[in-house]
Amino acid sequence: KSGAADAASLIRRHLSPAVASNSNFIAERASGSYIYSTDGQKHLDMAAGIGVVSTGHCHPKVVKAIQDQAASLIHTQQNIFAASTPMVGLIDRLLTIAPPSLTRFFFANSGSEAVDNAIKIARGHTKRQNIICFENSFHGRTYGSMALTTSKTYYRQGFAPLMPQVVVAPYPYCLHCKVREAHPDGDSWYKIQPNVKPYDPYEARGCCNAPIDALKWILKQQSAPVDTAAIIIEPIMGEGGFLTPPPSFIPALRKICDEHGILLIIDEVQAGVGRTGKWWGHQHVSGEAVEPDIMIFAKGIASGFPFAGLAVRENMFEGLASGTMGGTYGAAPLACATACATLDVIKEEKLLDNATARGRQLVKGLLDLTGKYPIIDIRGRGLMCAAEFGGKDGMSAEPGVAAAVTKAAGKRNMLLLTAGARETVRFLPPLTVSSSEIDEALHIFGESLEEVFG
Ligand code: PMP
Repeated sequence: KSGAADAASLIRRHLSPAVASNSNFIAERASGSYIYSTDGQKHLDMAAGIGVVSTGHCHPKVVKAIQDQAASLIHTQQNIFAASTPMVGLIDRLLTIAPPSLTRFFFANSGSEAVDNAIKIARGHTKRQNIICFENSFHGRTYGSMALTTSKTYYRQGFAPLMPQVVVAPYPYCLHCKVREAHPDGDSWYKIQPNVKPYDPYEARGCCNAPIDALKWILKQQSAPVDTAAIIIEPIMGEGGFLTPPPSFIPALRKICDEHGILLIIDEVQAGVGRTGKWWGHQHVSGEAVEPDIMIFAKGIASGFPFAGLAVRENMFEGLASGTMGGTYGAAPLACATACATLDVIKEEKLLDNATARGRQLVKGLLDLTGKYPIIDIRGRGLMCAAEFGGKDGMSAEPGVAAAVTKAAGKRNMLLLTAGARETVRFLPPLTVSSSEIDEALHIFGESLEEVFG
């Protein structure tokens, strides 16, 4: 067995330092909301592998599905067999939860790979080149998806030239704006300390519907509609800081796309599969439901097994020649069986309701901490919750504050993540998390804040 000292030396000597890791623990086993490391410590998991372990670690039904599938069929390859029995089962299930007009599917292994394929479909179908993405987005680390990733410079630093024909539009990020009070379904909460003044020169640009006006100008000044294949957006910015748009924003994008024949791609990799209390993050909108042309999913769909996919409108593959899409492992039977079991558990155990209830509990507990510590915003939906820190006298927080809080939580055996270029921490527990585990997380978070700010 390797102890903590061995772990540190193994990491230092044999792993890529370009992968930024929060800890030197070696994970050994896990169950529900806890991970156990080789040094005997038990960690409360408020990260869920970045929103992946939706049904909790090693859910017995998911484990059983993997074991059974592994004993009967592990691999076929989609060019050799177009489908497998677990894939058929998965399509049946996806058809019951995907937006109704998205009736064709393509499967891949990671979110980034799925994003790249969405770009291929958008360009191949529209015969246009430009892709518009938003500030604060994270779409992945491959060359295509990296070019659409704007949440932090280091994701692309030193790697140019990137995929060309990408235009970046402003995103609504109005920390001090009352519009965010108007969420119709009452499932987004926030509190702003009255003494915190707006400090962000970007704020005017990002406020309310200003980004929609900006987008209209982009289509006049930088990317003509006839050259614009798609607009891609996360329904809630994930790595970018859990920024939640006003409920009218995605409907407004849909309208612009329809006016100009531009495709709307919604990246549900982090916000999808029940994370926000609905199956898909973009279902929290004002007015009538909005459907994308292409929806990307990954992470929570298979409880930790590498799997991703696209759900697209019936006609989206028109214009793409046979053989232009594929991959050795996409739609692997083992992954499809894991996804089937995951979706069954989410339904059987009513995990959408649990995400909503536990999310409210978490936000309420975070709100109770705002008076005592410099938290300037609490945002998100369901079990996608973040707290952003401010500094003294309404100024920006000291760089590194969120990392310090995360580290203090780590010392107390709670796994927490930072998010975005601002000072924000995010909570992404398994959708199975219990009320007492949320209480435990709030308690540890309070102690961590006391260590950093007390
Ligand atoms: N899109 C979003 C919204 C994501 O959050 C991520 C991963 N954090 C990705 C795409 C990329 O997914 P992967 O890491 O599986 O390539």
